[in-house]
Amino acid sequence: MSNSNADHPATTSGSEAGQAASPQNLQSPDMVLTTLDKDGKRRWMFPRLSKGRFLSKRRAVAYLLIALFTLIPYIKINGTPFILLDIVHRKFIIFSYTFLPTDGILLAILLVSFFLSIFFITAVLGRVWCGWACPQTVYMEFLYRPIERLLSGTAGKGGKPTKTIAGWRLAAKYVLYFLVSCYLAHTFLAYFVGVEALRTWIVSSPFKHPVAFVVMAFTTVMMLFDFTIFREQLCIIACPYGRFQSVLLDRNSLIVTYDKNRGEPRGKMARKKKQQDGDIALPVADNGDCIDCKMCVQTCPTGIDIRDGLQFECVSCTQCIDACDSIMDKIKKPRGLIRYSSQAAIDGEKQKLLRPRIIVYPLIIAVLLTAFIFALSSKQHVYIKELRQVRVNYAAQTDGSILNVKQFKIINRDDQPRTYNLAFDNPEIRLTSEDLPITIAPGQPTQINIQIYTPPSLFKNGKHLTSIRITDDNGYNSTLDVSLLGPF
Ligand code: SF4
Ligand code: SF4
Repeated sequence: MSNSNADHPATTSGSEAGQAASPQNLQSPDMVLTTLDKDGKRRWMFPRLSKGRFLSKRRAVAYLLIALFTLIPYIKINGTPFILLDIVHRKFIIFSYTFLPTDGILLAILLVSFFLSIFFITAVLGRVWCGWACPQTVYMEFLYRPIERLLSGTAGKGGKPTKTIAGWRLAAKYVLYFLVSCYLAHTFLAYFVGVEALRTWIVSSPFKHPVAFVVMAFTTVMMLFDFTIFREQLCIIACPYGRFQSVLLDRNSLIVTYDKNRGEPRGKMARKKKQQDGDIALPVADNGDCIDCKMCVQTCPTGIDIRDGLQFECVSCTQCIDACDSIMDKIKKPRGLIRYSSQAAIDGEKQKLLRPRIIVYPLIIAVLLTAFIFALSSKQHVYIKELRQVRVNYAAQTDGSILNVKQFKIINRDDQPRTYNLAFDNPEIRLTSEDLPITIAPGQPTQINIQIYTPPSLFKNGKHLTSIRITDDNGYNSTLDVSLLGPF
């Protein structure tokens, strides 16, 4: 992987924008990031829109995903949200299944399987997630960028707008940015608080829920900051996925790549000559198919030159493929000078479909998912634990029985409220409690106190081991060992 040092016609440097570099500023000998000038100033990206077969497909996928991202919080199965990540109440509903903090192992298996699936997809299809499905790319390229192109006047031509932008256009652009950011903030928060809470927040006065209002305002500002200022920096600097690219990909992974064998040596085309048959354009003898038009650079949203090889800034957005294909069409050369391929294929090696990581990742995922299904099917629907007493003691009653007072913590791990009861199978042991039977909401940790009366004859060496039966209104039936204290 290399870091591009090519010139960047798609970008505007700080100095070009009229902010001349101070002579005192330290200058880096090389370009550190394509989005930074050598003196560290931001190089703003104004990528040219390249229409083509990949853009059409990405656009269709993107608008489908935007609809899906918006609708998912509204989807419910049997009254349970399809996805709800309720961090405040420590309850995670995934695929309408409720995971509680006591399901840490299940969640960990799910999370590791998810990351391994990403590793596997990356090993096979490269950064297809980044270019086609990541919300950052989808919203940036298909919501914010079209607004910018429409109102800043670049109309997809790339580069800094040449004319001064009218005030109303700037105002309209930022109003639209703000509205889209509000919509995104609401969509984002719906995943964490649920649509019902969100609806209440929207319709009632901010003074009735100031904390919620501040959370919403903060999220909106963060969206606005991300998509209007931070932009591609999130992919280049903040997102760890791109940084891991070099270890996740191998020579046979699918990447967007430039065919240097076909394209080099690059060079301008010969001037058109008037011939008897009309205008024809001939490539300069010995030149490759790349005419060094730099359209692939002008269109790149992260400002790199794909001809410098695979770079971690490349988000596989395929814009350079569409740009180059249109140039190849114009100069009547076959498409695909930049294309989806692999490093091995470009270097003339045989493409290997079966590689160690292509076999190992699915195997580990299969083992994890089997463990997940096993753990899920054997999961207890109630978590009950005897709490440690500060003063462990017993009391002899006037009727001769021995009283033990115990405290239990019960968590309903089902996704519906359940009513629980405790009892002893041994009819000699009597249990009383003001707390029983008790109805507990899903995921709600609840403490109960019970009094246990035991005949003294049951105690041996001051102890009696027995088990207490726990039942619920949904057929749950289990026992828990308890130790009762009494006279020697
Ligand atoms: S768009 Fe194609 S022809 Fe033009 S510079 Fe890029 S690789 Fe070369
Ligand atoms: S190099 Fe091509 S595929 Fe990669 S980010 Fe730039 S335009 Fe997109």
